[in-house]
Amino acid sequence: MEILNYINGEWIKPSVTEYFDVVNPATGQVIARTPLSGKADVDAAAKAASAAFPLWRRVPVNDRVQYLFKLRNLLREHMDEIAKLITDECGKTFEESKAEMVRAVENVEVACGMPHMGKGEFVEDIASGIDETMIRQPVGVCATIAPFNFPGMIPFWYLPYALAAGNTYIVKPSEKVPMTMQYIFKLIEQVGFPKGVVNLVNGAKEAVDGILEHPVIRAITFVGSTAVAKYIYATAAAHGKRVQAQGGAKNPVIILPDADMEMATKIVADSAFGCAGQRCLAVSLAVTVAEARNAFTELICDAASSRVVGYGMDAGVQMGPVINAASKARIESLIGLGVQEGAGVPVDGRGAKVKGYEGGSFVRPTVLTDVQPGSEIWKTEIFGPVLSLMHVNTIDEAIALANSGVYGNQASLFTSSGAAARKFKYEVEAGNIGINIGVAAPMAFFPFSGWKDSFFGDMHGQSMDAVEFFTQKKVVVERWPREWTRKF
Ligand code: NAD
Repeated sequence: MEILNYINGEWIKPSVTEYFDVVNPATGQVIARTPLSGKADVDAAAKAASAAFPLWRRVPVNDRVQYLFKLRNLLREHMDEIAKLITDECGKTFEESKAEMVRAVENVEVACGMPHMGKGEFVEDIASGIDETMIRQPVGVCATIAPFNFPGMIPFWYLPYALAAGNTYIVKPSEKVPMTMQYIFKLIEQVGFPKGVVNLVNGAKEAVDGILEHPVIRAITFVGSTAVAKYIYATAAAHGKRVQAQGGAKNPVIILPDADMEMATKIVADSAFGCAGQRCLAVSLAVTVAEARNAFTELICDAASSRVVGYGMDAGVQMGPVINAASKARIESLIGLGVQEGAGVPVDGRGAKVKGYEGGSFVRPTVLTDVQPGSEIWKTEIFGPVLSLMHVNTIDEAIALANSGVYGNQASLFTSSGAAARKFKYEVEAGNIGINIGVAAPMAFFPFSGWKDSFFGDMHGQSMDAVEFFTQKKVVVERWPREWTRKF
């Protein structure tokens, strides 16, 4: 597939000399090349979006959402083709890819409620003859900078809300996975948005810097690693932009002795090893409390070693490869570091080979035991199918341990005690809480974001938070005294 930019309603080949090879992580084959667009390409997209803004914002909101209804239907009709592309460039299984697109579509559906969600407020007679109104207006040109792990879904945490609210848009996908958005933009083209309303720029750091610095871009959303999130947050703010930046994670799960151990194991295994551990809501630290230790350790080792690993389109495969060879090498070296730091490795996924896919970047599910608080392996986001086990004697110690990390994306608890669950959900420091749930991903009609070093900003993604982020409030106070009204 040829990767092009989509600017002002045209497919454009950026005049670049540098390309990034897109590799199918299951085969190791190069399947596309991402043009590394520069600041001039971002400038062209920003100018097109800026020129489209005055007309788009005047399109009545009821009419704006008709474009989204069309897009929603096209996404559903083409879900299998999109999911196949996600599997091929990102590695996850076909079922996981489809699940990702279901959440993308759900966000479009929720954004179709903008005629209601975007309403302002009005109070008659705040004083005699004076009324006060709050109007929501779009902010202007907005942009999303996306990571590799959900190439289809993540831009949809933002894009449909921004468009429905009357903004114009630029999407910058991860250079590692440009094919999914390339295809989705063909659907966006079919929808027939006015020229310049939605634009696509492919590239990496230079394109990102072009977005961060561009004077007409007013609001930026970012999803990716914490180091880059901090950079985006600081740089966009220094250029006077509204910004929200979602970062990395190291999500703890606590297993109490009263948990349904078989259910807990199955759900924790799906969370830790699903999408090859490359989900920002994947659990990566399992803290067993008191006598939960032995049963959970035994069951999770069985679940890890029996997971079927392979190419995500093949029947029966439960886990695909990690994104690329560099990521495989990094994950394997982190497992090695854990062992050096004294962890046990009862299930070791290093050196994995899958028959027929010898060039693939596979790491099998891995379990590390006796991981120590404060160690490098405890601190570092691995972003691979590696679950570290830790053990404490009380729920208080477990919550203290969960809260002692720098991240705060998700924390989960497995228990049959309502009192323990209540304590946990109020005391634990994370933006997403799972009670007997392994991936506490909010539906599109709830806000999505983490806490602490997993998030920099204020308003979150999805639902009303996205409406807040992509609108600016204007308050009008007006005097129409009764004696004037009486004249008519
Ligand atoms: P990444 O930070 O490497 O890249 C994300 C985006 O930033 C890409 O578009 C990339 O082109 C750009 N980028 C990379 N380095 C840059 C730099 N130095 N300057 C400017 N731009 C740069 O992240 P990734 O590897 O694509 O994705 C995995 C990370 O994303 C993990 O840390 C994961 O936890 C995180 N993530 C977080 C969430 C969340 O909601 N909190 C969701 C998904 C992924």
